[in-house]
Amino acid sequence: MYVIMLGAPGAGKGTQADILSQEMELPHIASGDLFRRALEERTEVGLLAKKYMDKGELVPDGVTVKMIVERINQSNCAPGCIFDGFPRTLQQAKVLDEALGKEGKNIDRAIYIQVPNEELVKRLSGRWLCRRCQTPYHMVNSPPRAPGKCDKCGGELYQRSDDKEETVKDRISVFFNQTVPILDYYQEQGKLVRVNGNQGMQGVAEEIISALKAGIK
Ligand code: AMP
Repeated sequence: MYVIMLGAPGAGKGTQADILSQEMELPHIASGDLFRRALEERTEVGLLAKKYMDKGELVPDGVTVKMIVERINQSNCAPGCIFDGFPRTLQQAKVLDEALGKEGKNIDRAIYIQVPNEELVKRLSGRWLCRRCQTPYHMVNSPPRAPGKCDKCGGELYQRSDDKEETVKDRISVFFNQTVPILDYYQEQGKLVRVNGNQGMQGVAEEIISALKAGIK
């Protein structure tokens, strides 16, 4: 099963993709994480992506699609995967369909996690992540037990450089300008599921899992 998580930055796509990935035993493919890893490794793709990520802009489609297609051609994606942060443009969505179509596969569901804008800014500007396992914390709503340390693995917590308030606002407007059009694309194909992301993590997960079990709402 191939599932896409859609939502503005801060909507909880990563958290929900992780839950689904465990529930369905499918890999979680996060384009932002792939770019951040490429940057840590100082690859050509990583250094190019940095220029866009720092400004909250999208990395060009050609680079992004190539990276994702290489990833989904790895054998552990053969039974399916959960996409998080990809596709983000209509062009990416179409190329993804073509790439899967060549293998006789297709996207099964696109899940749109809806969260009001003010809540997105609040969530992102207080967000800290574990460098090792990527578990997210919020300095006000869900702080770690020990300052700066991950409760789960003891890893160091850090704030993403693009989670500063100014960049956050740019990333949210990029979402509304460039990513929202793909909601119609999946809606027309009868694959879109809308869930309320303005509730606790468990509530969102339950909505997603029951929608996937029941079919389209
Ligand atoms: P994320 O971790 O999903 O918030 O992504 C962080 C940044 O990586 C974005 O602001 C973009 O600069 C870049 N990025 C991630 N996914 C994509 C994508 N599908 N298309 C273009 N740029 C992306």
